[in-house]
Amino acid sequence: MKNVTILGGGFAGVEAAIYLRKASYNVTLISDREYLYVYPTSIWIPVHGASFEDNCLDLMKLSGVHGFELIVDSVKNINAKNSLVTLSSSKEISNYDHLIIAMGASKMKPKGIENTLSICGTPTMSLEIRDKLDALVQQGHGEICFGFGGNPKDTSAVRGGPAFELLFNTHNYLKKKGIRKNFKLTFFAPMAEPGKRMGPNALKMMAKYFKMLDIHEHFGKKIKIFEKDGIVLKMILS
Ligand SMILES: Cc1cc2nc3c(=O)[nH]c(=O)nc-3n(C[C@H](O)[C@H](O)[C@H](O)COP(=O)(O)OP(=O)(O)OC[C@H]3O[C@@H](n4cnc5c(N)ncnc54)[C@H](O)[C@@H]3O)c2cc1C
Repeated sequence: MKNVTILGGGFAGVEAAIYLRKASYNVTLISDREYLYVYPTSIWIPVHGASFEDNCLDLMKLSGVHGFELIVDSVKNINAKNSLVTLSSSKEISNYDHLIIAMGASKMKPKGIENTLSICGTPTMSLEIRDKLDALVQQGHGEICFGFGGNPKDTSAVRGGPAFELLFNTHNYLKKKGIRKNFKLTFFAPMAEPGKRMGPNALKMMAKYFKMLDIHEHFGKKIKIFEKDGIVLKMILS
């Protein structure tokens, strides 16, 4: 029976592990988290619509159900030439016939990114967003900016859905609390038509909703820097 080592315990790694176990491979999955984090439903955490635990699936339980071996450790180095993976604990993995790398994607890091919080970041950032929002609710008024970037070299790579979802969840949350009118909500994106991938009708609907819900917009302006209390944008002239 062939051995497969999978690096990463997100959707890709876990799906591969389950599929390969069904095909009778020996599977070892290495994850630096003890849980599979369900990003799509994490948009409810900041608005108290779901708990953090609701968004986590215990990898140990999954490994028991599907029969793969789980190692909770961080991958430090991959030596493809010598088929060797080194983990943070200094453990070395080399007894595999196939290696699957499923450690997720990384984002661009614009200047000042440390002044922002992202629902697409590490799982615990959803809790940081929740706590910030709680503090603003406590204060009773404020201004919140939501946005996303893209890759000008590959416009198909952009995924703005989570930012829109969190924006609308926040709007509804504040409305339910009866304090929406005390908050200025702004949406920003460097492309002139964010959401264009979804088609012209989606764009029209978005414009309609933004107007109806009193959401301000800044489109077609590149992000220059994120500051502690604001965002500096620059016009794209060409
Ligand atoms: C808010 C939000 C909403 C979304 N909604 C949808 C949706 O509705 N539909 C949809 O299809 N997609 C949605 N997505 C996208 C979807 O969540 C991602 O495409 C998916 O999570 C990618 O899975 P992945 O396994 O490739 O990467 P990840 O989920 O990033 O998993 C990578 C795993 O690798 C582990 N890892 C990373 N580095 C190491 C290391 N050095 N050592 C060991 N382990 C490591 C991480 O801990 C993690 O468990 C959404 C994303 C977000 C953020």
